[in-house]
Amino acid sequence: DKGLEKSKENFFGKLSRALVGKTTVDEEVLDELEEILISSDVGVGTTVKIIRRIEERVARDKYATTDELDRILREEVAALLQENKSIDITDSFETEHLPKPYVIMVVGVNGVGKTTTIGKLAHQFQQRGRKVVLGAADTFRAAAVDQLKMWGQRVNVPVIDHGMNTDPSAVAYDALKKGVEIGADVIIIDTAGRLHTKVNLMNELGKIKRVMQKVLPDAPHEVLLVLDGSTGQNAVIQAREFTKATEVTALAITKLDGTAKGGVVVGISDEFQIPVKYIGVGEKMDDLQVFDRMEFVDSLFK
Ligand code: GDP
Repeated sequence: DKGLEKSKENFFGKLSRALVGKTTVDEEVLDELEEILISSDVGVGTTVKIIRRIEERVARDKYATTDELDRILREEVAALLQENKSIDITDSFETEHLPKPYVIMVVGVNGVGKTTTIGKLAHQFQQRGRKVVLGAADTFRAAAVDQLKMWGQRVNVPVIDHGMNTDPSAVAYDALKKGVEIGADVIIIDTAGRLHTKVNLMNELGKIKRVMQKVLPDAPHEVLLVLDGSTGQNAVIQAREFTKATEVTALAITKLDGTAKGGVVVGISDEFQIPVKYIGVGEKMDDLQVFDRMEFVDSLFK
């Protein structure tokens, strides 16, 4: 996987260097491991949890070789990643009895790759024969509406917009109306990710939700939080703010192509108990992958 190459080399490189000349998992090895996990941005809480679990296993089995450490570590990391159970681009609407249209509200701060992720999602749904409508409800940032419209043109998907500085909930309302009218499978609503105060964010997202529910009472079916994986602990802070402001049901973590900090995925998934559904591994249309837990762990430890 080209996208995750960099995280892989780094984690694996560090781990094997730490284990040179070692045969058993002792205090020193565990200290090294702790440092590696923290420097890979797994986060202190999750790192401590992993180390404690390994200590327990080493104590219980009396003796663990460093050869086994790789396998044990993979198992522990995989166990911390939430399983992705909700709909993804590869699901079939006909056989899964999914609500139709399926409404995805996308949240996240500016610059994390929100618009790009929406464009990529629209493209991939479209490629699989799904009818998609986009709603440009990020009406606060100068370029956001135009950027989404550009993506809409590029991937040939209609974009509902009212221009800048308009009421985002009115855009969302119209996008849902349009989606119902044309029999869309998926409606993706972009939102403004202004974090200046938690109360504002909560009010804004709450209002968009309430207005959407006038069209479809069970919308949104998914609230997708987009985080920039290369920002490490900043992504964790954003996850904390957004999960307090609204009920986030899935995560998309972007920019994992250019970072050695893929560990942040493990920490966030563990701390917030929210599944990572997509990962962004580049700027192009096809650079969005459905998150696969075991594949991801493999990419870190191979
Ligand atoms: P927004 O402000 O959150 O809507 O962010 P944008 O979608 O405009 O993205 C900000 C920048 O990040 C753009 O230059 C994107 O091309 C870039 N970007 C988005 N996702 C990825 C990714 O997965 N990998 C890389 N390398 N760049 C990305």
